[in-house]
Amino acid sequence: MQLGTGYYKLLDPRFKYSRNCCTEEEIEMALLVRGFVNKEVMPERHNLEGGWHRDEKLAVTTRNRLYRRCCDIGLTKTSIPKRFGGLELSTVLRNMVYEELCRGELGLAMDVMHIHWPVALMLAAKRDDLLEELADKVIPEGTAWIGCVAISEPAGSVCIEDPAFELRTIRTTMKMDGDYAIINGHKIWPGTGGALERFKPDEYINGHLGYWTVVTRDPSKGLEGAGLVWVPPDAEGLSFSPPYRKMGLCWADENVEIWYDNVRVPKKYVLDLDQPGLGAKIIKGYVVTSGRLAIGSRLVGLAEACLEIALDWTGGREIAGVPIRERSFFASILGEMAKRIEVARSQMMMVSWQLGHPDLSAPPDSLEMLARVSAFRSYAGEACMYCANKAMELMGSYGYAYDFHVEKYMRDAKIIQMVLGGAQRDILDVAQGLYGPFKWSGMEEWIKKGALVTEGFGGSRY
Ligand SMILES: Cc1cc2nc3c(=O)[nH]c(=O)nc-3n(C[C@H](O)[C@H](O)[C@H](O)COP(=O)(O)OP(=O)(O)OC[C@H]3O[C@@H](n4cnc5c(N)ncnc54)[C@H](O)[C@@H]3O)c2cc1C
Repeated sequence: MQLGTGYYKLLDPRFKYSRNCCTEEEIEMALLVRGFVNKEVMPERHNLEGGWHRDEKLAVTTRNRLYRRCCDIGLTKTSIPKRFGGLELSTVLRNMVYEELCRGELGLAMDVMHIHWPVALMLAAKRDDLLEELADKVIPEGTAWIGCVAISEPAGSVCIEDPAFELRTIRTTMKMDGDYAIINGHKIWPGTGGALERFKPDEYINGHLGYWTVVTRDPSKGLEGAGLVWVPPDAEGLSFSPPYRKMGLCWADENVEIWYDNVRVPKKYVLDLDQPGLGAKIIKGYVVTSGRLAIGSRLVGLAEACLEIALDWTGGREIAGVPIRERSFFASILGEMAKRIEVARSQMMMVSWQLGHPDLSAPPDSLEMLARVSAFRSYAGEACMYCANKAMELMGSYGYAYDFHVEKYMRDAKIIQMVLGGAQRDILDVAQGLYGPFKWSGMEEWIKKGALVTEGFGGSRY
């Protein structure tokens, strides 16, 4: 038996997903994803990293082929409204999909998110014209398009996600010039953000959709100045670094730097065109809060993968003729892993439901909703690192071995704990939702002096 594919009723989508948060149709979808992961993704996990020798061609071909399969089974269409041919399923389902996909491979969940994310932004902006343009590409059978949302900047990305700064630290600018928006600036780390030639059409993918870019019209205006623009991939003035070299996720989620040098974009691509203040609401609610929830759901899937591998392995390894998982000391560790996953998943379902029902909870851009999501991501991050660590210990040296996959899940879990604000920001955001808002001491004087951005270390290494 391949480790991690044993059957455990408590982990079966029919039992683990609470029906007070999702529908039968959504559970069916989760089962479909689970079946796909077990059959098609699990055997290819190493190939998505290019195997032991990090063969880029193998990694990219496997990514494109499996991402295309994700599109074939409808995963990139789940949040697109039915009026554009999508499945119009809920925020809860979106996060169930991430959990299930991540049991197999985090990178594929990142690739799918790079379609869900822009869809959420354009839905929040009520831009049916842009949704239709995207749907024309993403909806037809047999298509697979790559997307990207660019937020992070060299002087420090976490300050962009920090409500205290009210989006004043964004340095990528947008100025209007007649029927065009002119973009100048520099983004670091955007996922699947590379140049068009890295996503050339092949037998699996159709190409790149472009870069949904967080911008400011004027940093001193803070929330009023912030905005979002869909930059088409062939726009003149774009240039890119090669993909970053990382601990993991090397090609399944390629991260690059993007430079915008007087990039001219037809003004219809400005998501919050003529709607002052809307850009900030979307960035806070749908780039950060909803994005962080989507990240947390992946941690649940990665943790579950580690638990399943540990369960299978400890069911086969014996001490004095008894499988070690039947000995109380080891059973208590497995139980502890399962407990943390159960709690994290319950939180995932509840917060996803709340985010999809702002009228019954709190608006997506509120400090309260950010706190709830951050509490979930923070808890899921710790739960996931605990599970990866314990799975590795329970398996002895085999846990550390390439062939048994826990080492990869551990690497993947670490980055997912850190993106979109990271572990420290999560906790500050929880406290802030409780009794905030907070301001950093010295911040007001520092802003008055015009020192809106510190010199960061990020970027420009390529
Ligand atoms: C695999 C991967 C995928 C990514 N995908 C994307 C993507 O698709 N799009 C995108 O735009 N970016 C993406 N990123 C970037 C990522 O979201 C940022 O790197 C991350 O938010 C951290 O920002 P930073 O590296 O600039 O750290 P910094 O902002 O320099 O922070 C450094 C440290 O200081 C702390 N810190 C700094 N400022 C604050 C503050 N105001 N409040 C609290 N703590 C603070 C942080 O917690 C951290 O510990 C990705 C990164 C990786 C590795």
